[in-house]
Amino acid sequence: MKTAKAWEAAATVCDPEIPVLTIEDLGVLRDVQVAESGAAVVTITPTYSGCPAMLVMETEILGAMRSAGFDDVRVETVLSPAWTTDWLSDAGREKLRAYGIAPPVRASSSRQALFGKDSVDCPQCGSCNTERVSEFGSTACKALYRCKACAEPFDYFKCL
Ligand SMILES: [Zn+2]
Repeated sequence: MKTAKAWEAAATVCDPEIPVLTIEDLGVLRDVQVAESGAAVVTITPTYSGCPAMLVMETEILGAMRSAGFDDVRVETVLSPAWTTDWLSDAGREKLRAYGIAPPVRASSSRQALFGKDSVDCPQCGSCNTERVSEFGSTACKALYRCKACAEPFDYFKCL
């Protein structure tokens, strides 16, 4: 009961770089445990290592847990197994697209399996006629793409 409430609180925290995605959408939130004493442990697996956003995320988790009545909270970071973009939930992918960011191509995607490279669909018009403009978009976690069909630039959430 307490654990469900704690998970709910932690799951409200959003990614500081992509505010439409919660850490639950991202698959960053791995586990929430509440001991008999009320002490809570939130386990997260960071997305991109060295992402300065992780520190912000940790602070926000502590804040969200405190507002839900959990004062004794520890955030534990687990690096193995490493986070991959495949952990992103379907709801998260849809939110990314609606936000104008192309969601990462699934590692198992047939196009990638066939041709051995990413083909990124434009989040605006859905065309796959896109090109990479720069390895780095608005943040290091994203790459900048441009759609040749509608000429709109867009961010692509890089695959890991
Ligand atoms: Zn387009």
